[in-house]
Amino acid sequence: MQKTPMALRKHVSIFGKVNAGKSSLFNAIIGQKAAIVSEKPGTTTDPVTKAMELVPFGPIVLVDTAGFGDLSEVGKERMEKTQGILNRTDIALYVIDSNSFDPIQYKDTIVLFKERSIPYIVVFTKMDLLSKAQKNWLQETYPDAVFTDHRNDAGISQIKEKIGQELEKIKGEEDSLIGNVVAQNSLVILVVPIDSGAPKGRLILPQVQLIRDCLDHGIRCLVTREDELSQTLKEIEKVDLVVTDSQLFKLVSEVVPEAIPLTSFSMLLARQKGDIHQFIDGAKMVDQLKDHDRILMAEGCTHNATHEDIGKVKIPTVMKKYTGKQLHFDFYTGYDFPHNIDEYQMVVHCGGCMLNKKAVIHRLSICQDKNIPMTNYGVLLAYLNGILPRCSDIFTKR
Ligand code: SF4
Repeated sequence: MQKTPMALRKHVSIFGKVNAGKSSLFNAIIGQKAAIVSEKPGTTTDPVTKAMELVPFGPIVLVDTAGFGDLSEVGKERMEKTQGILNRTDIALYVIDSNSFDPIQYKDTIVLFKERSIPYIVVFTKMDLLSKAQKNWLQETYPDAVFTDHRNDAGISQIKEKIGQELEKIKGEEDSLIGNVVAQNSLVILVVPIDSGAPKGRLILPQVQLIRDCLDHGIRCLVTREDELSQTLKEIEKVDLVVTDSQLFKLVSEVVPEAIPLTSFSMLLARQKGDIHQFIDGAKMVDQLKDHDRILMAEGCTHNATHEDIGKVKIPTVMKKYTGKQLHFDFYTGYDFPHNIDEYQMVVHCGGCMLNKKAVIHRLSICQDKNIPMTNYGVLLAYLNGILPRCSDIFTKR
């Protein structure tokens, strides 16, 4: 893997009315013409994303969105996509055409950011087209905003600097996967199955992320298949933690002595990206399910399903067996959550390695608001195998 995955990059998104100059700003920030710029309103239809390095901060993803204010049917669809982007945005750039500034819309938009706790930077564009008095009024009324001109890149370095400052403020929020779970110099064994579902010649993202996180935090890690686990444990005197693929929970929990803490990749992801306690409480609600209840199996990205696919086959099979109920499963894949979430009695989510923390937290808060239990694959499998207390111990001890 050569590049920082999108999910690990802070998302900086550009919002504003149609034709406010969002795409010009997007291109000026990345220094390329990636977004189409036109005087015609509504040129940006689907969100445009671009991974970039923001020096000196590091990797980010910049997102250009369709503008507010397109009232056509297509415009409404575009707005839904823009709303979806809002739900995974870490920093918002709110772009306003200074020649058609509407204070009421300004207030409404700021409320949208505040409701979601999104830090924002206000950018007034096309300032060179204003009279001196208009310019002075805007600059005095909105002293924290950045002011840019119509046809040159004035203000771009100031915007980048402000983005960097805002990102520094929220830097600590993206917790490490394992760095604050075990101490530096600990020894962790990672159990990785190489079965028919494993991608040929590579590891999957959560496995790669965890190895890198161990290296970042001075944690020694040893990777083994389940077949060699028993021998590995015999040869190593002190193991601080075993992390397994959650599909192997049962087998691995029988091999690893009780004295050695055990957890899974997806439980570490659940803790890093969301609220592990909400996922744990959600898993326990499996005992309350009744005949004909509907379960939403949600995944953050498309990946090649095999007949053994964990979300589509394995978990539904185990849930039906455990509960003895007639349960109905729907499957959802994608960045945005479905609108009909109220129709479900439980949501079971994948590890979410391709989603950023904002997106996972947003999904958790939707379920919490609607009183729908939400758990994730690893936490639920631990519960169904009767080992959830053992596998979550590590998160409550330190
Ligand atoms: S389905 Fe979920 S856990 Fe699997 S790769 Fe996609 S985002 Fe990651």
